[in-house]
Amino acid sequence: MAIKENLNYIKSSLPKHVTLVAVSKTKPISDLMEAYNAGQRIFGENKIQEMADKHEAMPKDIEWQMIGHVQKNKVKYMAPFVSLIHGVDDIKLLEEINKQAIKHDRVIDCLLQIKIASEDSKFGMKPNDASDLIQSEVFSELKNIRIMGVMGMATFTDDENQIKKEFQLLKHTFNTLKPLESFNFKPEIISMGMSGDYQLAIECGSTMIRVGSSIFGERDYSI
Ligand SMILES: *Cc1c(COP(=O)(O)O)cnc(C)c1O
Repeated sequence: MAIKENLNYIKSSLPKHVTLVAVSKTKPISDLMEAYNAGQRIFGENKIQEMADKHEAMPKDIEWQMIGHVQKNKVKYMAPFVSLIHGVDDIKLLEEINKQAIKHDRVIDCLLQIKIASEDSKFGMKPNDASDLIQSEVFSELKNIRIMGVMGMATFTDDENQIKKEFQLLKHTFNTLKPLESFNFKPEIISMGMSGDYQLAIECGSTMIRVGSSIFGERDYSI
């Protein structure tokens, strides 16, 4: 498998303002090291334990990002090292992340996950609820977290028009939240786009794409 070639191919097509997160969930450390040796330093995982194990085993200049749904009771396992948590969709979770960040005397960057897909299965907040959260008193007291922007996942469909509308909704949500900037809300990142739709996402304003199978190949969940 040509991980290095895949990476170089994707990177060569990216505008400078777009950050590539290499989604390495389920993949062995040897695969991640191949990407590392090709220059990749940002990796995305969706299970906290797996990310912690890989963090332990790999070079320490890697930025580890949590792209999956986060359970409150597991935040403590990634609090010492996680560089960005994409899937935050509730104030209680933010309070827990803040609490764990205090223990490690650091500020943890997060993204608010916005529900843009029409499917029921996707997590995320409604745009209005995100706006309420950012303006709430509880949020203004969380000094050890920083919301850096928004994240979204489009519906799993072949209908490009629908995907485009959903990406546009995320971009629009970002634009409406932007004026609410404060000490712990620094809107810079729009995390959208995966292997199948990252070009479209970039056209719609993405600044961060999360790409797995186009770099590492298909995932095998049977092992
Ligand atoms: C797995 C995953 C990706 C990457 O998916 P690919 O289609 O393999 O690129 C991106 N974002 C999230 C949230 C994921 O869980």
